[in-house]
Amino acid sequence: MQTNTATKEGTTKMGMLDDKVAIVTGSGRGIGRAIATLMMNQGAKIVITDINEETTKSTAAELKAEGGDVIGVACNVTNSESIEKMVEAVLNQWGRIDILVNNAGITRDDLFIRMTEENWQAVIDTNLTSAFKVTKPVLKAMSKQRFGRIINIASTTGVHGNAGQANYAAAKAGLIGFTKTIAREYASRNITCNAVAPGFIATDMTKALGEEKISKVVEHIPLGRMGTPEDIARAVAFFAGPAEYVTGQVIKVDGGLYI
Ligand code: NAP
Repeated sequence: MQTNTATKEGTTKMGMLDDKVAIVTGSGRGIGRAIATLMMNQGAKIVITDINEETTKSTAAELKAEGGDVIGVACNVTNSESIEKMVEAVLNQWGRIDILVNNAGITRDDLFIRMTEENWQAVIDTNLTSAFKVTKPVLKAMSKQRFGRIINIASTTGVHGNAGQANYAAAKAGLIGFTKTIAREYASRNITCNAVAPGFIATDMTKALGEEKISKVVEHIPLGRMGTPEDIARAVAFFAGPAEYVTGQVIKVDGGLYI
């Protein structure tokens, strides 16, 4: 469903997400930033929010300079108070929240035998419990509106497992179960909840693996390359926009790695 709207400048813009208010967590850099950029280009009003105050501010300013309707509000997704303040700031600014992308995430990889409880907990808190904490206040607003699109960024690791990532696999698998349950509970209010499971995407998160390991993984990807943050953004935008009759789904965006 595409719409035409007149902008303040008097020009006409046309986008799938015209005037939808979208929060993307962990959007200071990486995949989150690419998601925010694409949704902005499709007409959405964007909330850049990241634990890092500097990147929150600079990314919001850069997107704004490209002509977007953007605010930057720093938020640590493991901290309920910080989340409440961020959600309040968005509602004060625009009075509604249409799209939530739970994207913020970390890795603390180690073989299970060596994995510390601290690294287990940090990954569960940042990648899974965060979705519980952020989604709660956002769903309150979406329920009142009788409209919402929630997209959770999972991982193929959450579906297939991966040696050295017991904490991350457990968190992302949990996020998939969370996605399907929210989809069932909120469908009657016209709120959909879906997940995107990226495979091997070129960001700082994977750069840390080193050249040798990266080229070994790429050998197994049928499409012959690592994914880009923009590849993930396009799948997220599908769930946020045209996928009106799709809920509770997980789409792998992995170049065919797990066909
Ligand atoms: P990234 O480049 O490391 O970016 C993650 C972003 O999240 C950073 O801006 C980071 O802030 C922020 N963040 C970390 N902890 C946070 C917290 N507690 N509160 C708010 N923001 C926080 O990672 P990415 O590759 O873009 O990953 C984005 C999502 O995709 C994650 O959920 C990840 O698990 C998932 N994913 C990635 C891949 C891949 O291959 N890259 C594959 C599968 C799934 P700082 O800048 O301060 O660190």
